[in-house]
Amino acid sequence: MTTQPTAAEPFTTIIGLEVHVQLQTKTKLFCGCSTTFGAAPNTQVCPTCLGLPGSLPVMNRHAFDLAVRAALALDCTIAPFTKWDRKNYFYPDLPKGYQISQYDLPFSSDGRLEVIDPKGALWRDVRIIRVHLEEDAGKSMHDEAAGTADTRIDLNRAGTPLCEIVTQPDLRSPQESRAWLNELKLLLAYLGVSDCNMQEGSLRVDANVNLHIPLAGEGGADGRLAKTPIVEIKNMNSFRSVERALVYEAARQWEEWQATKAEMGNTPKQTRGWDDAAGVTRAQRHKEESSDYRYFPEPDLVPVTVSEADIAKARAAMGDPPTVLRKALAEKWRIPAYDADVLVNQGRDLVDYFEDLATRVGEGKVASNWMQQDVLRTLNERGGTIGEFPVRPEAVADIIGRVTKGDFDTSRGREIFAEVLASGRPVADVVASMGIAAVSDDDLVSLCKELLAANPKIVADVQGGKEQAAAGLIGQARKKNPNVNPGKFRQMCLDLIRGM
Ligand code: ZN
Ligand code: MN
Repeated sequence: MTTQPTAAEPFTTIIGLEVHVQLQTKTKLFCGCSTTFGAAPNTQVCPTCLGLPGSLPVMNRHAFDLAVRAALALDCTIAPFTKWDRKNYFYPDLPKGYQISQYDLPFSSDGRLEVIDPKGALWRDVRIIRVHLEEDAGKSMHDEAAGTADTRIDLNRAGTPLCEIVTQPDLRSPQESRAWLNELKLLLAYLGVSDCNMQEGSLRVDANVNLHIPLAGEGGADGRLAKTPIVEIKNMNSFRSVERALVYEAARQWEEWQATKAEMGNTPKQTRGWDDAAGVTRAQRHKEESSDYRYFPEPDLVPVTVSEADIAKARAAMGDPPTVLRKALAEKWRIPAYDADVLVNQGRDLVDYFEDLATRVGEGKVASNWMQQDVLRTLNERGGTIGEFPVRPEAVADIIGRVTKGDFDTSRGREIFAEVLASGRPVADVVASMGIAAVSDDDLVSLCKELLAANPKIVADVQGGKEQAAAGLIGQARKKNPNVNPGKFRQMCLDLIRGM
């Protein structure tokens, strides 16, 4: 990945991300209402999250602990003392007229999360400015189905705990930004902090992007840079949209800059919305300055203190993050970094399945091959989770064990796997019903002798050093008995010929 301007792309794309993640708690941040997604509108509300006069918020400590866990995994420093602030703005989905958030004393800051490419080389180390906790707003529903084109408000979401994660502008391409988001999502899922379901709005991304364009002086580049105005892109509802929107926006800014060639110093930040269907960004209202929000300390909540013991407890509950787990798996099971990456990227449950299988098989690489070629491939085809996958590790290990023993070869093993998957029957049943009886060593030897006697030319060729001639025997053997294991049969023929 180059970060230097090239002839094809004579600028550097500078990208920073702002991610909002809903925490996986049963109840809201400042009241006891349920956070379950999909309930009938306005059924999960109470005086506190509706902002009725006289109601008082009480912090959900579990939500705070989950947020601390996420911040620690992102290498952030946890503040020993943190407080709440009111962020004031008027919007129909914000019943109180303010959001309880954190302004000047966020609970954590100065973290980092690197993104690594599948080949194991470092792609980018992204610094995190801060992670803070705040409450979500309600949802506007633009109800055109009724033909009235009116807008209704659902406040079930109001008060749901949100972590806001803000990065430095350290990302250098749309592809890299998407990869980084995937890594963040994976990390949060491993931590059990969030389900990161973008369709349900559990994870939302805004992206800041502008271009740095080297200005050529008399004899070439003179070190001066033109910087296009920073644009904040909103309304992206998948990581793919994030990538597409950034590609579009970088090209748009480049075109716009070429028309003016201005150096553009301190132009104010602009906000543009992504239109996924049209594949374009469009100008939106200008973003408020922080002074417009009239932040002030929340008088109804006490500040939160975090002790060293709290941090130690959060660390203990954390488990291995994906970066650590990739290395640990590769070492423990002696599998390539690529294999570890593929397995870890599928989530904690798949890693558990793999470790169960590898323990039974005793061979990490063999287990990993079956995971990738059989388990993962069929899982991706049929959908669903690894927890619901009908072929359990013990069955896969049973098949692999029979292959290793020489009862049949790997391709026959694959057919049995497919049949176990389709029928849900035990491996032994499937093996019996498919007529795959293991050929006894005695039978194999006599078949081998019979064919050697009938094929003197092949015997002579092998004796003359052409081992590959033995392949001619395998076809004949399988015609006589389809259950013959080709690898085992070939080896036996070679041994017998050498002993002649
Ligand atoms: Zn409530
Ligand atoms: Mn926010």
